[in-house]
Amino acid sequence: MTQDNATTSQPSCNDPVEPGVLSVPVAVERLLQSAQPVSGFCRLPLRDALHRVVYEDVRSTMNVPGHDNSAMDGYALAFDQLPQEGYRAFRVIGTAYAGQPFEQAPGDGECVRIMTGAPLPPGVDCVVIQESARVVDEQQVELPGKGQKRGQNLRRAGEDIRKGATVFPRGHYLKPADLGVLASLGINELSVCRRPRVSFFSTGDELRSLGETLGKGDIYDSNRYSLHGLLRECDVELIDMGVVRDDPDALRQTLLEAAACSDLILTSGGVSVGEADYIKTVLEEIGRISFWKILMKPGRPLTFGHIGDALFCGLPGNPVAVMVTFYQFVVPLIKRLSGRDYRPPLGFEAICDSPIRKNPGRREFQRAIAEEDEQGRLHVRLTGRQGSGILTSMSRANCFIVLDERCGPVAEGDRVRVEFFDQYFSH
Ligand code: AMP
Ligand code: MG
Repeated sequence: MTQDNATTSQPSCNDPVEPGVLSVPVAVERLLQSAQPVSGFCRLPLRDALHRVVYEDVRSTMNVPGHDNSAMDGYALAFDQLPQEGYRAFRVIGTAYAGQPFEQAPGDGECVRIMTGAPLPPGVDCVVIQESARVVDEQQVELPGKGQKRGQNLRRAGEDIRKGATVFPRGHYLKPADLGVLASLGINELSVCRRPRVSFFSTGDELRSLGETLGKGDIYDSNRYSLHGLLRECDVELIDMGVVRDDPDALRQTLLEAAACSDLILTSGGVSVGEADYIKTVLEEIGRISFWKILMKPGRPLTFGHIGDALFCGLPGNPVAVMVTFYQFVVPLIKRLSGRDYRPPLGFEAICDSPIRKNPGRREFQRAIAEEDEQGRLHVRLTGRQGSGILTSMSRANCFIVLDERCGPVAEGDRVRVEFFDQYFSH
């Protein structure tokens, strides 16, 4: 691969290459189009609103800061009082503290000692920092004119937030700084969107839950734990429905139960060709479902549709494929259901330290570790073997190397696109 066809650009949303085969961006687009934000909201105390979605525009009922104040410790005065050259002696007529204003205007040859955050006394339009002052005694100070400017070291009322401004629009996802902003406006309670309810279960006769004894050929159900972790990071209400056997009646019953109490149903396994038959027949019987082949690796099959009012998303069974498809498809879906705006994943350009074999055609998600070198350049390397059953390739990684459809083999030193796991939901 040359740098010209490097993989850092977002590929276009191509139309399906063959019926039922979709590129990743087209599949995401379709998912987003067929989902609506869930209805309902609740009032929460400010602290509990972290990572929730604002239900209605939040407007400011006050200016922040509420008053003109000093940005530094120093001496407040009318700028015109300062000398053109050298120093001039001033009488200090009082002290203004944060929370303890001094309300007398300094006159000719006078100034006010002022602390950071203290409201400005009347008639003041300049603060000279204390480091520039020559203190004579408690009542007297000499201040320079050179280098000083009118309006310096002041914070103006409303310079952060103006009264009446929309601080956060509906759909805004609340981060730690946002709690601080809301607190600075005196808001201690607000309306946030209801969280989507997501049920999930694993399918497979070979799967055993933790605590059970493994028989010959059995494996522990790991997907439900990866999914639990992923869903916890998405701030949804979780309904863990356990393991369901590859049995049409059991599948039908569990799906109907899940549909009655959730906004989204996720399953893993049972959608690959041949074995998929049960789930396919059941889904077609009780819902409206499309089976999509996606031009991606891992995670080729994806099932999507509705059962009653609930959305259904059938993820592949392979432990890595489950996580890859979750990040690519379920995260956008959950953002949409949560009432958040969707933004495509953030990509970073990195120097690839591992050669990668790839044929053009599908978008590939390789598990990798990205780190800065001493010069601050981002490097990325694979986490070893990349089989879609090798879950440790995922747990050792902090990002995907995303190789787009057109990209062929990657040589050491090529630039590649990297998407960090912890950006998918927070971004
Ligand atoms: P399937 O899509 O059901 O054919 O599963 C593909 C592969 O993923 C098989 O090797 C399954 O044993 C494995 N698999 C499916 N579900 C799980 C699960 N919940 N936990 C761990 N491995 C699974
Ligand atoms: Mg299976």
